Amino acid sequence: MRLVPAPAGSGIVFRRSDLDNFEIPAIGRNVARVSYATSLMRQGVLIQTTEHLLSALIGIGVDNIIVEIDNLEVPILDGSSLPYVSAILASGLKRQRRKREYIRILKPVEVRENSPCGDKFIGVYPGDGYSIHYSIDFPEPIGRDTFTGDLEAGAYANLIAPARTFGFKEDEAMLRDMGLIRGVSDDSAIIVTRTTPARIGTVLNGPLRFPDEFVRHKVLDLIGDLALAGRRIWGRVVAERAGHAMHTALVHKLLHDRSAWELTHRCEATSPPASDALTDGHSPALLHA
Ligand SMILES: [Zn+2]
Repeated sequence: MRLVPAPAGSGIVFRRSDLDNFEIPAIGRNVARVSYATSLMRQGVLIQTTEHLLSALIGIGVDNIIVEIDNLEVPILDGSSLPYVSAILASGLKRQRRKREYIRILKPVEVRENSPCGDKFIGVYPGDGYSIHYSIDFPEPIGRDTFTGDLEAGAYANLIAPARTFGFKEDEAMLRDMGLIRGVSDDSAIIVTRTTPARIGTVLNGPLRFPDEFVRHKVLDLIGDLALAGRRIWGRVVAERAGHAMHTALVHKLLHDRSAWELTHRCEATSPPASDALTDGHSPALLHA
């Protein structure tokens, strides 16, 4: 996989170098299948597991980039977005001349799912910055937790990027059947088990990177999935027991309710010190799975 600088206004575009450079823009219209991971599809061509890379890009302020990839799966690496963030920051970012366009939220948009196992919820509201409040409620030993943060504060690389994906050991067979075994391999995910004595933070493969790493990873996923709105969000997001399907359902609902948002710029005085693209054509960030 190779990340290549792109002109202002390009957005984030996947390019399948093994299929005549077929391009799949990272936008809501191309969302394909969503269960344990988010996939994009255009004219039958797939890109799987887009969320961690998209999260890294939005998290550190990259708006325009081409992601060249020679197969259908974005590398899972260590299950977090830190390897992507490190590679991109090492290569460098360039501020582009054109001002960043935001999706500024004007009125609430909400998605609810009521089920016997508990209600799920996600909503986006008007607000300054890009703040996220996430609540999870998993079986022990993960349990309940919440995380609140603001992306505009610039702390993504430290607070969110290192948080790894996680899975229950008991789901391994099912995930393997679904072709998603990478979700519970030792070096690409936190593995928990329901048979572990119920104690928050008990995992099978080594210490957690944060005491609340699970909920931080849900925030990482949410940022990556909301990237599919096509522009950076200017507003406040609240999610309770949500997942990829709920995240992308919110993107669809938001994009279809044209009265709920406007495309706008920020005046320079309040603009965050973010850069918009990779530096130059000479040093694309190279990533090896
Ligand atoms: Zn994830």
